[in-house]
Amino acid sequence: MKKKISLYIHIPFCVKKCDYCDFLSFGGCSEQEQKAYLTRLFREMACYQEVAKEYKVESVFVGGGTPSMLQEGLMEQLFHQLYSVWELAEDAEVTLECNPGTLTARKLAEYRTCGVNRLSIGLQSANNEELKLLGRIHNYDQFVANFKLAREAGFRNINVDIMAALPGQTQNSFGKTLAKVVDLQPEHISVYSLIIEEGTPFAENEELLASLPSEVMERRMYKYTKTILNSMGYDRYEISNYAKPGYACRHNQVYWTGGEYLGFGLGAASYWNGMRFENTKDWEEYLSGSDENLRKNVIKDTKNSRMEEFMFLGLRMMQGVSKIEFEMRFGIPMTDIYGTVIQDYVEQGFLCWDGEYLKLTEAGIDVSNVIMADFLLDEQ
Ligand code: SF4
Repeated sequence: MKKKISLYIHIPFCVKKCDYCDFLSFGGCSEQEQKAYLTRLFREMACYQEVAKEYKVESVFVGGGTPSMLQEGLMEQLFHQLYSVWELAEDAEVTLECNPGTLTARKLAEYRTCGVNRLSIGLQSANNEELKLLGRIHNYDQFVANFKLAREAGFRNINVDIMAALPGQTQNSFGKTLAKVVDLQPEHISVYSLIIEEGTPFAENEELLASLPSEVMERRMYKYTKTILNSMGYDRYEISNYAKPGYACRHNQVYWTGGEYLGFGLGAASYWNGMRFENTKDWEEYLSGSDENLRKNVIKDTKNSRMEEFMFLGLRMMQGVSKIEFEMRFGIPMTDIYGTVIQDYVEQGFLCWDGEYLKLTEAGIDVSNVIMADFLLDEQ
């Protein structure tokens, strides 16, 4: 039987760089640069012809950047290349990330022909002032128009990304964004807090930094999100992700459950064959380097690193981590390795047992980063 795998394909182009963004993406690339990149990407994908024979692909995620800014016809070429190498499971989830203002009916029809069955649209806010402040290229009406176009094109599985804790944002304005999004009834909603990343225009804007909501307000927004979305039929299945029943993102769950995935393109990360690695982030090196030299930071798995990841990635999910599965995977009870840290956090009310599952409590979600860091082990 063939093994399961997921694939990520990175398209690093955006119409323009948003002011808070430190993702590996570039604004204003020429058509020539885009084509040169895709040619290189196709060559990289073709290298896996032999490897691919052993696998069936469970999910594909084309992310960026803004993959939907590629001109018409290029996405079809990309998927043609993908399908010439990899076999997809019949029910594979195929997601394409897109941004409002870059979609057209023709592009959406092309994506459907390519087998894309899930769209992830970066809205961030329904408030035009906030969108402007973030340096986004679109306004709210453009998002609504694109969302409706996607529905008309037949997309029945759509995620909308929203950001919380924006400079100057109040619970009222955040609540309005949430309400407007829920009104459109997407199948999936992701809510992440703005993180100020070094080297971005945001990080150097003192006025803006001074107007960031407090941590208390940020937590309130998160709790409010849960209350509203739960009441509207969305289930929180991960700290920042909500879905209607049956629409949790399968691709992301592969990351959180230690499944294998291969990433193609500039800076794309992989976890495959007992190794974690990422492609070079250097544009020139990616375009002109040899296939052998693409991989950087190759880290071989150890039992400890697999146990750590099982715990801190698994705890991101609301279901938590199964002690039975831990023992099956690693041949040792979870409590033999993590007994003290689990007991401490259970006593403090940050973790709890739900049958065989260890999971974060509501209070634990607020301090999840600290808790997860305590599941790191000393390498022996
Ligand atoms: S659209 Fe996304 S990837 Fe592109 S610059 Fe903005 S935040 Fe970054």
